[in-house]
Amino acid sequence: MDVLLYLFILKVVSWSANKEIYGVNMSITKYEIYEFWKDKSILKNYQIKNYASCEEKDEAIRIIEFSDDICCWACGLPSFILDEENINISGSLKKEWNNDKSLQKAHIIARSLGGEEKAENMFLLCPICHADSPDTVKAENFFAWVYYKRKNDNYINMLRRGLEEACKIKNVDFQIIVDYLSKCNYHKVMKLRKQIIKSCTVHGTFVSMSSKMMELIDEIIKDIQ
Ligand SMILES: [Zn+2]
Repeated sequence: MDVLLYLFILKVVSWSANKEIYGVNMSITKYEIYEFWKDKSILKNYQIKNYASCEEKDEAIRIIEFSDDICCWACGLPSFILDEENINISGSLKKEWNNDKSLQKAHIIARSLGGEEKAENMFLLCPICHADSPDTVKAENFFAWVYYKRKNDNYINMLRRGLEEACKIKNVDFQIIVDYLSKCNYHKVMKLRKQIIKSCTVHGTFVSMSSKMMELIDEIIKDIQ
């Protein structure tokens, strides 16, 4: 699929998170969570270890690859905010993490099951992953899920799956949509995005994938006809 498609969907997903900043009432900051996890890795047995002391046999995945790369720690969806959305990005790393409006503070062990609001029990996830992640009494389940996502299911897969499913629901040929998007220029992408923002709303804590994808398909079909 064309890279423009990813760019387009990516922006729509980022926008969804801005509608409701989950965890805004928590006193722990994103930077504090980042500080705790910045040098940690998940091993293939789902244990946590400092990256520097990992060996090859651990098959470790570093949770944060680059200190200023603000993206979902499970699917890798970048925190992509447009200039006109008025998010002030400062030069300092602390401000950069704390200014982020697209990631949510997720509990590793669910709050309702006794999980505390401490950095070691918090993780930064996009709204889709947050809704999807396991809420159990075992941290191991959470890390097993993150490890799997990091290895097998990044945001590009998720978005493609969402679009494909919406096509099936609406009985629209997926290939027609893909072809249309691969020919879109930047101006058209932004126009589509604006129309989708106008016609979707929050479902629970975020705009669902199906809302965005179904509206996207409607707009494309309207334009083709
Ligand atoms: Zn994610």
